[in-house]
Amino acid sequence: MRVLVSMCLLGVNCRYNGVPKAEEAVRTLLERDDITFVPVCPEQLGGLPTPRTPSERCENKVVSKDGEDRTAAFCRGAEETLRIANLYGCEVALLKERSPSCGNKEIYDGSFSGTVVSGEGVTAELLRKNGVKVFGESELDDFLEYTRRE
Ligand code: SF4
Repeated sequence: MRVLVSMCLLGVNCRYNGVPKAEEAVRTLLERDDITFVPVCPEQLGGLPTPRTPSERCENKVVSKDGEDRTAAFCRGAEETLRIANLYGCEVALLKERSPSCGNKEIYDGSFSGTVVSGEGVTAELLRKNGVKVFGESELDDFLEYTRRE
């Protein structure tokens, strides 16, 4: 099964602060024959550099900590990620939690105060609306159960 995965979970240096941070439990899945990861970073696909100032969703926009409207870049990254999902036939994704792009259940609230609220990142939302099942890195058991069933 081909699975879209947030590149930063594999340790690729694409995070906003330019500091790699792999999730070892996700990396161990690279050894499995039944799972083929298709790595993406929606924010880089949208044209943003690494490192970059952090961004948060704020109502219908995505805004950087220094006040720049980054909505267009985030939407472009989401569209390109969906294009890749379709090209590779990915019907499931394993994405970084709480990211304004990749978060699947919770995101920061737009105040840059560390406050988490229910919500989705721009890419996770677009993927879900197009039929891709999205899991976060803390949901590995559910993810593996889902891949067994499908
Ligand atoms: S956009 Fe997604 S893949 Fe890229 S650094 Fe942020 S959480 Fe990771």
